[in-house]
Amino acid sequence: MRILIMAIALAFAMIQPVSAAVYQQGVIYVIYEENVIKDNADLNSNDVPDYVEDMATQVNAAREVFKDVFKFPDPLESERFKGVTSIEIDLLDREELGNSGKAFSNVRKKSKHDPNERAIYIKLANTVDSHKKPTPTHEYFHLVQYGATYFRNGWFLEGMATWAEDSVSEIKKYPNDLAIPLKLRSKTYENQIFEKKYSTAKTLWFPIAISKKDKAKIPASLIKKYKYVDGTPVFHDDVIYGANVMRDIIHKMKDKEEVAAANFGGFENWRKKGQRDEQNNEIIMDCVREVYYSR
Ligand SMILES: [Zn+2]
Repeated sequence: MRILIMAIALAFAMIQPVSAAVYQQGVIYVIYEENVIKDNADLNSNDVPDYVEDMATQVNAAREVFKDVFKFPDPLESERFKGVTSIEIDLLDREELGNSGKAFSNVRKKSKHDPNERAIYIKLANTVDSHKKPTPTHEYFHLVQYGATYFRNGWFLEGMATWAEDSVSEIKKYPNDLAIPLKLRSKTYENQIFEKKYSTAKTLWFPIAISKKDKAKIPASLIKKYKYVDGTPVFHDDVIYGANVMRDIIHKMKDKEEVAAANFGGFENWRKKGQRDEQNNEIIMDCVREVYYSR
């Protein structure tokens, strides 16, 4: 049966012309079928749609901010993604993808741009306008999280990735909460946080960053360096709130993985389901509190 399926797959692959284009910018590779690109503007006449270049540019900009300026762990240097040398972005039709972006925690042992190279990857929809949306940064940040820790609880993964969008976005009014020091000790508050995903950026991550006065600047050299093909700056302003706090929390989480895994019989048995189990919630929240009260 397996041979039959492989034979059909092979025959199908031979009939279907392989038309995927590859665009490289540093360690980032964008893989796309030419017909998914809706805007073919090519201001710099390099035969690559600016739309494609801009997507890679945003990811590289976010990558430099997190990796080089704020010293977040680099997914390409992580233990988990050993031997991985690149990040692939599959640029797909919105209908096919089903949403605007997804990040994956498995490794492509044979990357799409080179079967001899290993890659980690994200998928982005052809409706994402990098000039207006921080989706490439959000999905890239998931790779940072995956490389740094195995914890997968949604209030951490989605909430903090939503926080990370601040790096390239302009936030006019940061969500504040003066009661945060008290709330961090409240069971009711905790339980509300644990049930949520994206919205914890507003109810937890930004409020702790602001409470800790962790306001930082994106260096002027980076603002100048990262521009879209039409000259628009990638960074919408130079303020980022919470980068030091979030980095410290992520490091703390790495240290506590053993405690969490022990609930499931050790690392060998701490699989995806266990990595997002509610038993992890208190352990992650302890990391938040430890960083919060020690800074
Ligand atoms: Zn996400």
